[in-house]
Amino acid sequence: MNNFEELNLNPDIISAITELGFVKPTPIQELVIPVLLESERDLVGLAQTGTGKTAAFGLPMIQKVDTSINQTQGLILSPTRELCMQIAKDLQSYSKNNHKIRVTAVYGGTSIETQISELRKGSHIVVGTPGRTLDLIKRNRLNVSKINTVVLDEADEMLSMGFKEDLDAILEGTPDTKQTLLFSATMPAEISRISKKFMNNPVELSAGTKNVAAENVKHIYYEVQARDRYEALKRIADINPKIYGIIFCRTRHETKEIADKLITDGYNADALHGDLSQAQRDSVMTKFRSRHLQLLVATDVAARGLDVDDLTHVINFNLPDENEIYIHRSGRTGRAGKSGISLSILHMREKHKLRSVEKITGRSFEKMLVPSGKEICAKQLYNLVDRVENVEIDESQIAPFIEAIYQKLEWLSREELIKKFVSVEFNRFLSYYKGAKDLNKIDKSRDDSRGSREDTGRRRKDVDGRRGDDEGRRRNRDDANFTRLFINVGSSTNLNPASLIGLINKNTKEKSIDIGKIEIMKNFSFFEVDKAFEKTILKSFEDTDFNNIPLVIEVANPKQSGNEGSPSSRNFKRRDSFKGKENFKGKENYSRLKNKDGRKRRENKK
Ligand code: AMP
Repeated sequence: MNNFEELNLNPDIISAITELGFVKPTPIQELVIPVLLESERDLVGLAQTGTGKTAAFGLPMIQKVDTSINQTQGLILSPTRELCMQIAKDLQSYSKNNHKIRVTAVYGGTSIETQISELRKGSHIVVGTPGRTLDLIKRNRLNVSKINTVVLDEADEMLSMGFKEDLDAILEGTPDTKQTLLFSATMPAEISRISKKFMNNPVELSAGTKNVAAENVKHIYYEVQARDRYEALKRIADINPKIYGIIFCRTRHETKEIADKLITDGYNADALHGDLSQAQRDSVMTKFRSRHLQLLVATDVAARGLDVDDLTHVINFNLPDENEIYIHRSGRTGRAGKSGISLSILHMREKHKLRSVEKITGRSFEKMLVPSGKEICAKQLYNLVDRVENVEIDESQIAPFIEAIYQKLEWLSREELIKKFVSVEFNRFLSYYKGAKDLNKIDKSRDDSRGSREDTGRRRKDVDGRRGDDEGRRRNRDDANFTRLFINVGSSTNLNPASLIGLINKNTKEKSIDIGKIEIMKNFSFFEVDKAFEKTILKSFEDTDFNNIPLVIEVANPKQSGNEGSPSSRNFKRRDSFKGKENFKGKENYSRLKNKDGRKRRENKK
C-alpha cells in the first residue's frame, strides 16, 4: 500500500496527517485501519510504541465519531499519564481539520475538578489511565454507556502495573456491542486470557512476530567484571560523544546512584524514578525530550511514559529479570524507521540470561569490547576537530574582540595554535585515561559478580576505597538496609517482578519504597524491601489476594539469603520443589525451614 487515500480515510484526516509528514501508512496502520473502518470485529494488535499504532487505532476512531451526538463514543485506556497526554495530543492533531471533535485526557496526579469541567463540555473521545477513568465513572462524571469503541493500549503494561481489576470494572459499564481493540508490545499468557475474557473472536494482527524485538535495533553486549560496570558505562558514553540515550537500572536506588555519579563525573545526565514528584518528573522529561540532557538514567516503571523517537542508544546497565522488559526497553530505540542500538553491560554470571533473551527476541547479540582509553581519546579528538570545523561563527558578535585575540596569539605558528586549541578540551580525556586498565580482562578466579546487589548504589563505599572487603562482609553490610520477605505466590500464579511491584504499590499506596532483589520461584517468592517499610508492607498485605489466592507474607529467614545469587543452588531447589496444595502447603514447608528467630517473631505477632 502506497498511500493513505487507499485506506479510505476522510480528506480532512489525510490533510492533517500529511501536514505531520506522514507519507505512507506504517505496517501496523496498513493492517489495522481497514479492519476498523470496514468491520465491527474486535482486534488484538501486537505492536510496540514507535510503530505508529496510535494513528492505527486513532485515525479510524476519529473518522467514526458522530459529532451530532454529544456523547463519549471512544474510550482509550493507557497505563501512564504521559502516554494519555501524548495520545490525546496526537488525536487532536489528527482531527485538527474537524473542529467539532473533542478529545479529553484524564489521568491521576492532577486536579480531578478540571477534568470534570472538561468532560462537562462534552467529549467524543476520552483517553484515560484506568484509575482516574474508573474514579470519574463512579462519580457519574464520565458516561461510558454509549461507547462504541474501546482501546486497551499497552495492555501488557497495564496488567503488570496492577490495573486488571480497574479494567474489569470499567469495561463492565460499557455496551456489549462495542468494538474492543487491544494493543500490546508482548503477548504474555495473561494477555491471551484477557483477550478471551473481554473480546469476541478477535482478529489478531501483528506488525512483527510475537515477542520479537524491533527489526532495526542492533543488540550488543559488553562483558566486564561486576565492579567495572560503571567504568564501562562511562567508556561507552565517551566513545559515543553524540549519544542520546536511556540507561535502564533495576531499582530506584541504583538509578539515583548512577545518575549522581555521572553528574559528578561531568556527564550531561539526570535520573527519572518513582521518588520524584510529578513536577520533578515532568521537568526531567522535558529536559530530556528537548535534548538538554544526553543521558537519562531511569527505572522501567518511571520511563514508561516517556515517548522519544530518536534515541541513539538504550543501555541496559544490567539485564532485566523479565525478557519482555528487555523487549520494551530495546523498542525505545530504532523507532519511526530509524536505527538504534540496545546495549547491555553484563558480568559473566549474566551470560545465561543473555541466551534466554536471544531466544525470545529472535535476535543474536554481538559481543563488543569495552573501548580502551586510547580509542576513546582518538574518538573524542576527532569529534572535537569535527565540531571546530563545523561551528558557526557569529561574525558580528566576535568582531569587537577578534583584533585583540589575533595580536595575543600572533607569536604562535599555525600548527602550534591548532594543537593548543584542541588540547584545551582534549587534555581532560588524556589525563583521565592515562594508564587506564583493560576492562575486557576478566579475572574468573575473582568472583565479584554474585547477585546484582554489588552493582547497585550500595557499591559506592567500595569506590570510596574499601574495596578490600571480603564478599561475606560486603553482603552483610548491604543487607543492613533491606529486609527480605517471603510471599506465598510465584510464577505458577503468574507473579512476575513487575506484578509484584504493582502489588506492593497497590497495597501500600506508597510509591517510594526501595525494592531490592526479587526472586520469583514457582510457588512462592522472595523480595527485598527497605527495612523502614517492613511493618507497612506486612500490614498492608493483610487480607489481600493475588489472582484469587489469599496472600501470606512474612519476614524470610536471613540465613537463607546466602545463596540468593544462585537460584539453582540446593536450598532453592528444595524450596521450589514444594508441591501439594500449592501455595499454602509451600508456605507451611517453608516455615518449617525457618530458624528460631523466625518462629519467635510469629509467636510475638500472635
Ligand atoms: P506511535 O507508535 O503511535 O507512538 O508513533 C511513533 C511515531 O511515528 C510518532 O512520532 C508518530 O507521529 C509517527 N508516525 C506514525 N505514523 C506515521 C506514518 N505513517 N508516517 C510517518 N510517521 C508516522
